[in-house]
Amino acid sequence: MRLNIAIDGPVGAGKSSIADAAAARLGILHLDTGAMYRALGLKTLREGVDPAQEDAVVSLCQGLNLAVQVGEKGQRTLLDGEDVSSQIRTPEVSMAASTVSRYAQVRKHMVALQQQLAAAQDMIVDGRDICTTVLPQAPLKIYLTASSEERARRRWKEMQEKGEPDTFEEVLAQVIARDEQDMHRPVEPLRQAEDATLLDSTNLTFDQVVDQIVKMAEAVRNGD
Ligand code: C5P
Repeated sequence: MRLNIAIDGPVGAGKSSIADAAAARLGILHLDTGAMYRALGLKTLREGVDPAQEDAVVSLCQGLNLAVQVGEKGQRTLLDGEDVSSQIRTPEVSMAASTVSRYAQVRKHMVALQQQLAAAQDMIVDGRDICTTVLPQAPLKIYLTASSEERARRRWKEMQEKGEPDTFEEVLAQVIARDEQDMHRPVEPLRQAEDATLLDSTNLTFDQVVDQIVKMAEAVRNGD
């Protein structure tokens, strides 16, 4: 059976870096699905399209030249042939990604692409709707979260290290705004799937979270 591990959770829960570390330990790949919505968000901003204009965004999505390369060295996201892996990480693109991901036609397009990638290889796939929609049959499904203050604190620390000027209060407000948008959108809102294991990392270190995921994955792999 394909070892697909589905991880969902809110912004700043550490899904991506935790999934990267767990995938490396398990010797499998990691697909960060948020990067795909971010690429569409970036395209929207580049084309001067308002992310709130559903028809215009859907039409951009249908003609989107997006390629995702997942390898042992990480993921590269290519938009119109250009590697935009770092350009998609700005707060502006984050908000645009969250807005464009509300549209049913956009989600349908991205979900199909993600399912194709996951069917081809053993991988950890992280996002918002992986357990509920993209890979509901995955043998291991995890909902990774932490308190909003803790998630904002981690993100703020990362931004400080990169020399970005935002204050903690601004980062907390961004976290809360994105949670609000992701959890209350009409199409496939972020929620914990009934059969997903809840992993609350508020009081756990990075390594403790990775250990727990690796342990659960090994149990699945060994058929325990
Ligand atoms: O995970 P990340 O913060 O990079 O995702 C950016 C945005 O893309 C999220 O705020 C969310 O709105 C959207 N997203 C989604 N479904 C996914 C992954 C991300 O709706 N599977």
